[in-house]
Amino acid sequence: MNTIRKDFLSSRLDGIAGSPMLALIAKTAELRAQGRDVIGLAAGEPDFETPVHIQDAAVAAIRRGETRYTAPEGTLALRNAIARKFDRENRLSYSTDQIIVSVGAKQVIYNAFAATLNPMDEVIIPTPSYPAYAEVVRMCAGTPVGIACDVSQGFKLRPEQLDAAITPRTKWLVLCSPSNPTGAVYTQAELSALGAVLCKHPHVWVLTDDIYEHLLFSGEPFATIAAAVPALHDRTLTVNGVSKAYCMTGWRIGYGGGPRELIKAMTTVQSQLISSPCSVSQSAAIAALDGPHDFLAAHQATYRERRDLVVSGLNAAAHIRCGTPAGAFYVLASCESAIGRSTPNGGVISSDSEFVTYLLESEGVVVVPGAAFEMPGYFRISYAADSRLLNGACERIGNATSRLN
Ligand code: PLP
Repeated sequence: MNTIRKDFLSSRLDGIAGSPMLALIAKTAELRAQGRDVIGLAAGEPDFETPVHIQDAAVAAIRRGETRYTAPEGTLALRNAIARKFDRENRLSYSTDQIIVSVGAKQVIYNAFAATLNPMDEVIIPTPSYPAYAEVVRMCAGTPVGIACDVSQGFKLRPEQLDAAITPRTKWLVLCSPSNPTGAVYTQAELSALGAVLCKHPHVWVLTDDIYEHLLFSGEPFATIAAAVPALHDRTLTVNGVSKAYCMTGWRIGYGGGPRELIKAMTTVQSQLISSPCSVSQSAAIAALDGPHDFLAAHQATYRERRDLVVSGLNAAAHIRCGTPAGAFYVLASCESAIGRSTPNGGVISSDSEFVTYLLESEGVVVVPGAAFEMPGYFRISYAADSRLLNGACERIGNATSRLN
């Protein structure tokens, strides 16, 4: 057996968890391979195919011989397309040297923290939150400072909470809107109010993760903080990518716009880590950002129908409650009233993780425990799946909860 000494592994990884969603996706595949009838709703990825015009752009890039390393910060052509996108969709002005292209939005986030955090630096993260923020902060020797934003405040950070959490060591505030896992969306007015607090604390920067920008059902226009509060433009990193809107999770292209010096430092990190993002995917991303974009409205309408189906299906199930999220493709539902109840085989459900295990074992439905997002007592369901599966999942969840005493 191949064993390594415990101290061979870096202490940098002490207490760092791998992605819970990726672990659940692997578990779903394993159960299916064993012949189990499983509905997997843990993955945060569109079930639609990458649009054909984007696929065609990638094939054409290969045929043109665009198969070599590119500039470490991404091709000039793609950075120009991103600059046009920021200008057209967000009223944000970034020159091409204020833009970096990375292997997914996740790597943009890593680059930013690796390039800026020193030991003891604090990063404010409103919770429930996407798990990678806190784990990447820890990997980069920083200290994540979670601020609990519960359902009574729509899972959104309040200005007074932000003000109270800022210390001389605060380096970043992370915002994610529409949010994974809550689907909560900040309005322009809410961002302005948070911005007013930040204007009093010029040492605090903002990383805004806008990856779900195009999955918005509120009817209000999408708002992002560097546009809502122009005074913050020079200390904001606006992160986005093609994974969710353009159904390109596997192509691995994300990007960030921010101050030149920050982008330069992030490029240094990236050039030693990956040399450059995939050349073919970069050409595909140009086609994605330049359009056509008509399919976005159709996808949005479909997601909205699915959201409504899941919200009513879950609220019809015993011991489950959820609100109606305004964006992304997740519902974060409370299973608090299922906790403490006994299952048909005599076990007692003592946490959201055990509730999720009970759903998996009794009904073959895979969802993510709220604890993964620092929201115990809840679970997250992704509705990026077709309606038949979602109906089936809600029915199975209802069956499972009706058997709890
Ligand atoms: N940010 C959030 C909030 C996400 O939910 C995800 C993926 O689930 C990412 C970033 C990562 O996106 P990418 O595929 O661009 O790395």
